[in-house]
Parts: sequence; C-alpha cells; structure tokens
Amino acid sequence: MADLERFRSEARQWLEANAPKSIVGLQLSEMEGTWGGRNPTFDHPDMKPWLERAAEKGWTAPTWPAEYGGGGLSRAEAKVLSQEMAAMKLPPPLVGFGLTMIGPTLLQFGSEEQKREHLPKICRGEIRWCQGYSEPDAGSDLASLQCRAVRDGDDFLITGEKVWTSYADLSDWIFALVRTDPEAKKQEGITFILIDMLSEGVSVSPISLISGKSPFCETRFESVRVPVANVLGTINGGWTVAKALLGHERSMIANLFGPSTGRKKGKKGSALAALARAYVGEDADGQLTDAALRHAIAQTEMDARGFGLTVQRAGDAAKAGHQPGPESSLFKVYATELNKRRTELMVRIAGPQGLGWEGDGFDAEELQRTRDWLRARGNSIEGGTSEIQLNIIAKRVLGLPD
Ligand SMILES: Cc1cc2nc3c(=O)[nH]c(=O)nc-3n(C[C@H](O)[C@H](O)[C@H](O)COP(=O)(O)OP(=O)(O)OC[C@H]3O[C@@H](n4cnc5c(N)ncnc54)[C@H](O)[C@@H]3O)c2cc1C
Repeated sequence: MADLERFRSEARQWLEANAPKSIVGLQLSEMEGTWGGRNPTFDHPDMKPWLERAAEKGWTAPTWPAEYGGGGLSRAEAKVLSQEMAAMKLPPPLVGFGLTMIGPTLLQFGSEEQKREHLPKICRGEIRWCQGYSEPDAGSDLASLQCRAVRDGDDFLITGEKVWTSYADLSDWIFALVRTDPEAKKQEGITFILIDMLSEGVSVSPISLISGKSPFCETRFESVRVPVANVLGTINGGWTVAKALLGHERSMIANLFGPSTGRKKGKKGSALAALARAYVGEDADGQLTDAALRHAIAQTEMDARGFGLTVQRAGDAAKAGHQPGPESSLFKVYATELNKRRTELMVRIAGPQGLGWEGDGFDAEELQRTRDWLRARGNSIEGGTSEIQLNIIAKRVLGLPD
C-alpha cells in the first residue's frame, strides 16, 4: 500500500507537470478522443503534446511492457493512474482499437518481431487500426466468413468483402479474418491476418445510415498481396485468436458502458435522480413526484450497483493474471443492456425534450441525449449481439447442452 501511495504522488506530480492545463475538463462524448494514425486529428491543439508526452512516458498503454512502448505498470498502479487522471479531469491521451483490441491480442499471440513492429506504433498513436470480421453473410455466424486468402509463395492473395468495418476510411491497418482452407470444418479453415490499408487492391466505401453519416464502411479486397509473415497465430488457427480478440473487445465495450456510467453522485443522489428533479420536479420532502419514475430509477441504480460489485470481483481476478475468457460475454451483455435501459430512462424523464434531433427547441445536452439513446442500441449488437452473448454464457460458462 505504501508503494502504491508513493506511486500515486509521483503520478500526480508527473500529470501536473506534463498535462496541458488547456485540456483539463475537455468534454469528449463517447468514441471521441485522439485515435492517432497516419493522419491524426485532435479535438484540441494541445491534445497533440499531451499524446506525445504520455507516449514517451509509456502511459498511453500503462500496463504494456516498456520494451514495446508501454508503461510497465502493474494493474493496481494503472488503476491509481486512471484515478488521478479522473480526479484532474484529464481526457485519455489516446483511444482506439489498437490499444483495446489488436494490441492485447498481439501481446498474447504475436511473434517477437510482430510485437516489436506494431506495439510501439500503437503506443505512439502512429497507426490506427480497424476490425475486418463481419461480412454480408457472416455476422453472428462469423465462422461462415468467405473472404478468401490463397497462398502465393511467401504471400497470400486476399479477395472478398467485409462490412460494418467501423472507421475503415480513417484507418491505416486492418486486422481481418480470412478463409485459408475452404475444405476444412468452418472454424478450422480461418486465419487471422494483419493488412496495411495502403496495399494495392484495398478499397473502402463509407455507409450512410438513415440518421446521416455513420462510422460504418464496406471494405473490399481485390487480390490484395499480404505477406504470410503477417499471420497472427498459425495458418488455419485464426479462430482461437479471433475469439481472444472478441474477449478483449467485449471487455472494452463493457468498460465503456460499465457500472460507473452516469452514476456520479451529487448531494441529492445520482445523475438520473438529478435529471428527474430538473424535468419532473420534487415534492416538499425532496421526493420525486412521479412514484413510477422513482421505482425505475431505484431499480436501475440497484442493478448498476450489483454489476459494479461483479466487475470489481473480475478486476481482482485480472490482477492475478486471469485473461478475459467467455465470461466477458456476461459483462458485455449486462453493461450494454443496462446502458440501453439507462439511456431510455433518461429520454423518458426528459419527455418531449428527450426526442430532439436538431433545431432551436433543444439545448446541446438534450440533443446529445437523443444521440446517446440511439447509439446505445448499436452497443448490444457490435462485438456480437446480446442473443449471441447469452448463447455463449449458456454453453461455455454454464455448460448447458445445445
Ligand atoms: C455499432 C457497430 C459497430 C460495428 N463495428 C464492426 C467492425 O468494426 N468490424 C466488424 O467486423 N463488424 C462490426 N460490426 C458488425 C457486428 O459485429 C455485427 O452486426 C454483429 O455481429 C451481428 O451480425 P449481423 O449484423 O450480421 O446480424 P445477424 O447475425 O444477421 O443477426 C440478426 C439478429 O438475429 C439474432 N441471431 C442471429 N443468430 C442467432 C442465434 N444463433 N441465436 C439467437 N439469435 C440469433 C441476432 O442476435 C440479431 O438480433 C459493428 C456493428 C455495430 C452495430
């Protein structure tokens, strides 16, 4: 404990000396922040020096080994660091699928050469990654994927189509699942491969949704030449790597919408209660006037509290070196379904003011609330739908028969 407290004070000193004052309290909504890449954009000009200083210290990826550009911190130290950053209202210096998905998977399955090639670039925010899993006929049934990779000497020639590739138009590399053995049982003919998006034959078209712009893209490969050395894990052994990455992805999504979301307590209770007081009103005793709403808020808060304790338990297991396994499905399904209920409740509380999309009749917070409510629906689909998570929990956690 004494060591941790010493680390806390060192971390605070370093943050005070290195985090630009101008970014304190910078409000970034969900999925915003510095994603890095060959053509990075910054929400604020001082996010650039913030990224550079944090990367030099290894604190963009605090728990990764220092030899690959990480901070070499223990999980307990990393938790202290994030507590100090939260206390100082500092935005993360870097976000993205490099840090949350492919990085941890490279640490697990990458060769020494692959780790040295890719991890430092992720830590420095030089390369932005996207995920090429889903195809037009392979979503929940991912193992049916058809994107073909045919061996040609020391390369594979890749041809096929991926869909719903979030931010492919802004990304530099893609981690993709390809079929290398069409004769094998479907899970056994899949290879996990890393592809530079600048390779000849890669094309990306953004997909527009009914709500306008979207992060989604279609990504096509037309005889794209990719070195066999870019295979992560073994040829035809990609399913194991793919599942491990999904474990990291589900943990990341669960963390984004985990137990602390929207639960900051003020003097008079939770953020939900404060919102209800503002829109619905309270009686002379300070109680919300709408009894049904009181019940719904209490239920959501109790569920969030129960979930928080379960997450804490898993956090302790992680400190002991436990990698996320099929039980990450439990966190993913619960966090995203809870967040759907919470955002729905917020819209309900705001009444007609909760349904604004644009125009003068709504303030910025109200417009954001509508978007958060709709975006929450996607969270229970990406990384595998809630129904698929329930199937995984039934089969692989509870051991129930098919
Ligand atoms: C916001 C968002 C971001 C995404 N980003 C990416 C990305 O970057 N890269 C990428 O590769 N993909 C991405 N996806 C795609 C995502 O992985 C798929 O949408 C998801 O796996 C579901 O596949 P599908 O859309 O083909 O739906 P389907 O598989 O067609 O499913 C349709 C419905 O049927 C249900 N269903 C299907 N099979 C079963 C079953 N066996 N038992 C019970 N119910 C079942 C599903 O739960 C769902 O409700 C993203 C999706 C979203 C929403």
